[in-house]
Amino acid sequence: MMERLIFVRNSLVALLFAIPAVVMLPRASHSLAVPALAFVWCLFFEYLYHRWFQHRPGTIFADKHHLHHATYRRENEEEHLNFGGHPIYVALLFIVNGAPLVAVDLIFHTRWFPPAMLIFVGYVIVMEDIHYRIHTGLWVPFNLGVKHHHGHHTMPPKNFNGGIIAILPWVVHSAT
Ligand SMILES: [Zn+2]
Ligand SMILES: [Zn+2]
Repeated sequence: MMERLIFVRNSLVALLFAIPAVVMLPRASHSLAVPALAFVWCLFFEYLYHRWFQHRPGTIFADKHHLHHATYRRENEEEHLNFGGHPIYVALLFIVNGAPLVAVDLIFHTRWFPPAMLIFVGYVIVMEDIHYRIHTGLWVPFNLGVKHHHGHHTMPPKNFNGGIIAILPWVVHSAT
C-alpha cells in the first residue's frame, strides 16, 4: 500500500511539470515529429539510465536499484518497486530532461517543450505503474513487457528497456 502512495506522490510531482506544458500547448509546435522523437528519447533514456546508472556499482542509483533486485520474489519485494526514492529526484529527472528543451526553445523559438514534456510525464507515470503491475502480478495491458522484465531479474545483465518491448507489438501490428 505504501508503495502505491509513493507512486501517487511521484505521479503528482511529475504532473507539476505537465502544468506549464499544458498552459503553453496552444502556442507550441504542431509537428508530430516532436512527440514522436520525445517518445524515442524516453525509450533511450530509460535504457541509458537503467544500464549505465542503476547498474553501475558504487553509485547512489545502483544502491537503491540493488535493493530492487535483491528483494525480487522475496516477501518485501513490494517495498522496493518505485524508481523515485524522494520527490526531489523525480523533479530532477524532469529538470534534467526539460532544461535543454527550454534552452533550445528560447534560442531557436522552436516551441518543442510543451508536447515533449507531456510525453515525458506520461511515459514516466505509465512506466512506473506497469513496472509495479509486472512485479505484483496485476493486470498489464496485453502483458506488455511482462516476460521481458522478469527476464531482466532472472538473468541480469540484459533486458534493460521495458518500453521498447512494450511498444514493439503495437508498431508491428500497425505496420501490417
Ligand atoms: Zn535492473
Ligand atoms: Zn523490476
